[in-house]
Amino acid sequence: MSKWEDNVRKVEPYVPGEQPNDTNIIKLNTNENPYPPSPMVMKAMQEVTEEGLRKYPDPTCSALIDALADYHKVNSANVFVGVGSDDVIATAFMTFFHSDKKILFPDISYSFYSVWASMMEIPFEKVPLADDFTISPEDYKKENGGIIFPNPNAPTAMLLEKGAIREILDANPDSVVIVDEAYVDFSGEDASVLDLIPEYENLLVTRTFSKSRSLAGLRIGYAIGNEKLIKYMSDVKYSYNSYTMNETSLKLGVESVKDDAYFKKTCDAIVNTRENFTKELLKLGFNVLPSKANFVFAGTDKMPASEIFAKARENHIFFRYFAQNRIDNFLRITIGTDEDMERVVRFLKDLLA
Ligand SMILES: *Cc1c(COP(=O)(O)O)cnc(C)c1O
Repeated sequence: MSKWEDNVRKVEPYVPGEQPNDTNIIKLNTNENPYPPSPMVMKAMQEVTEEGLRKYPDPTCSALIDALADYHKVNSANVFVGVGSDDVIATAFMTFFHSDKKILFPDISYSFYSVWASMMEIPFEKVPLADDFTISPEDYKKENGGIIFPNPNAPTAMLLEKGAIREILDANPDSVVIVDEAYVDFSGEDASVLDLIPEYENLLVTRTFSKSRSLAGLRIGYAIGNEKLIKYMSDVKYSYNSYTMNETSLKLGVESVKDDAYFKKTCDAIVNTRENFTKELLKLGFNVLPSKANFVFAGTDKMPASEIFAKARENHIFFRYFAQNRIDNFLRITIGTDEDMERVVRFLKDLLA
């Protein structure tokens, strides 16, 4: 009997939301943006050259890093880019969570965190959210090997205010604190903690082009932090793959950053639709957590969320459902166009009538 399987790493993988091929559905299950990417991105797509594909891409990703540095008014040495923020966060885990102490993240949160920690053999502790689903800074004032949480949190969509994040940072000068701002572009002016970076050299902020920039298909994410943090991450990146970012993503990413007017317009539209949709859900008797993201987390006593999920799916409407303690009567519903959400409201009205 051969024993090669004894030496295989066996992991329980992250399960992404479905990506059905059917185009005749309302797809509100993976928090994609319902609007197309900037027309400038589509135009640059026509300009992809043979030469661009024949050669290796720029391993330093300087064009995209410079564009992001410029946009956020930081130095290029403060920016790291990767293949979606999943790649950026995985690199950060490998780089910063390298002790025997447990890392901390909320029990109800982005489920990839525990998958990465398990895969990389990083000890971790899931910190329960408070009864109202908020993150309590008090719970993060204990010894740890690092901290990560999304802000707004996913799947609750709730924003932790800056004062509370400061409290977590002040209590943890000896570990890296990662704030995953995948959804912060939908949270209003002062929600991001990017402005705290000059004060806290252990704060890393991650962002993605997948939600607010309508570019989930290109796979672009980035991190901003003190230049020491960025240098350490860069060294890890060059230790496993020098060319993470492909040439096309690097080029098109720059175009997206340049078109700020379009970016702001589409983000505003989604926030506006979110507010209207929330009102409709409340009218239908749903409990809706206060959302600062491009999705809402909601449930009703009138019908189990699992049943609404299944019935919606039969009707070609895709939501996300998590069969997890405390949130098993909630649905995560991505904000689509106004027309999408009107169809959802009509469906729910009929279903619950
Ligand atoms: C979507 C998401 C990400 C990952 O986004 P990428 O597509 O990999 O850039 C990271 N964190 C949270 C909380 C997310 O919801």
